[in-house]
Amino acid sequence: MASETKFGVRRYRMYINGEFVESASGKYFPVTEPSTEEVMAEVPEANEKDVNRAVAAAKAAFDSGAWPQTTAQDRGRILFRIAERIRKEAAHLAELESRNSGKPIVEAEYDIADAATCFEYYGGMATKILGHVNPVPDNALSLSLREPIGVAAQIIPWNYPLLMAAWKLAPALAAGCTCVLKPAEQTPLTALELAGYFTDAGLPPGVVNIITGLGEECGAPLVKHPDVNKVAFTGSATVGKAIMKAAADTVKRVTLELGGKSPNIFFADADFESAIDGALFGVFINQGEVCSAGSRILVEKSIYPKFVEAMSAKAKTIRLGPPLERETKMGPLVSKDQFDRVRSYQELGKKEAKLAAGGGRAASMTRGYYVEPTIFYDVDNSARIAQEEIFGPVAAVIPFAGEAEALRIANATPYGLAAAVWSRDIFKALRMVKALRAGVVWVNHMQPTYVEAPWGGYKQSGFGRELGPWGIEEYLETKQVHINLNEQPIGWY
Ligand code: ADP
Ligand code: MG
Repeated sequence: MASETKFGVRRYRMYINGEFVESASGKYFPVTEPSTEEVMAEVPEANEKDVNRAVAAAKAAFDSGAWPQTTAQDRGRILFRIAERIRKEAAHLAELESRNSGKPIVEAEYDIADAATCFEYYGGMATKILGHVNPVPDNALSLSLREPIGVAAQIIPWNYPLLMAAWKLAPALAAGCTCVLKPAEQTPLTALELAGYFTDAGLPPGVVNIITGLGEECGAPLVKHPDVNKVAFTGSATVGKAIMKAAADTVKRVTLELGGKSPNIFFADADFESAIDGALFGVFINQGEVCSAGSRILVEKSIYPKFVEAMSAKAKTIRLGPPLERETKMGPLVSKDQFDRVRSYQELGKKEAKLAAGGGRAASMTRGYYVEPTIFYDVDNSARIAQEEIFGPVAAVIPFAGEAEALRIANATPYGLAAAVWSRDIFKALRMVKALRAGVVWVNHMQPTYVEAPWGGYKQSGFGRELGPWGIEEYLETKQVHINLNEQPIGWY
């Protein structure tokens, strides 16, 4: 899947119809290593022609060939073999992921293990797709069958590259769909490595196609393609809205996992030390490049000054460094664009609120897209730094007095992906759980995610659920079958 060019940069090919190929234009685009700002690889620049080729391969594989004949048991076995291979290659994949995305190696190792677990989970689920017998009142047998939707276009972001690929591919394949996956242009490498495992795992050609390209040139034609039956997207709200509109023309099924501005709510009766750690982990994990980042930190007034002070003191000790060093707790942001974006929010924050920690690029690092973990306090919830998704290590701390106000502030955002509540009063915590408008609510924790549990948002954070049994539902149609048991069919004429 990759060869060395004369400059020592790895040149990858993309994966269509079971083969590693160049793009139709023969063009490549560079992939940057964010800790060094240097080009680490080149990947094919796919355009509409490549999209057409990949979709044609996926459609042919869905309609004919080996895949429609592959039993649920065998689909499951293929997914188990992919999982096994991911585990075998985990060290290599984690290193590549860490270098390409900037995330600390220790976090990348968790992601790779989670990706394997996701293939295992849906490997098991392939044989648990059940239909129904419907209790209709006639002398008939009424059935509902579950069938794969068809060709799925899957567009993913750069923050959890291989894991997002797994969340998309595993349930689709378990359901019997075929896929065209487009990784984010910043981080396409681990998905292309994954493509190298498919043939050995027994996946027939065309069932999964992985094309690398930019949003406008490759993502947009993929979403519009008439032979695509379903679009699964994770990314920004802006692109999600455009995708929903583009999908309308041919009435594609759509699931969207978009941004968030998730509240992490701390009551005075929470365990203080765990609260500080939970606030930092909630917002700074993966450099804050997390859709569910706890970027609005709501703190009850009686502990507010002490909380801001303790959180800021600890934030200043977070170890920034090269992502491959095991002691590193925060790596660089993924790209120059993201660096500029986060830097501009740091400057905006200085006008909108008070700065308690960070606020600039990380002076300790001489190169790479590093920014300081940044904490603003006395933030008004209507400020832009409290309303707009920054997707970087920038926290907005907001004081509140009592449950009602906490709830009002927490829900006052167009998003509704996640929320967390910290309290030792279980009744108060549960009242909050019920009233928070978010698809995921943690109590006395923030961020742990499990393949067994549903993931997705309320409001403008999207719709549809990934993971668990919910995840496979999004790739299934329901067919009603009516079998008449009378000698004579019921008729009118
Ligand atoms: P970000 O701005 O943080 O890169 P995006 O939502 O733009 O987040 O990117 C998420 C994914 O969506 C990427 O794979 C990107 O290439 C893709 N994408 C961007 N623009 C479009 C578009 N107009 N149509 C389809 N996909 C797109
Ligand atoms: Mg974009």
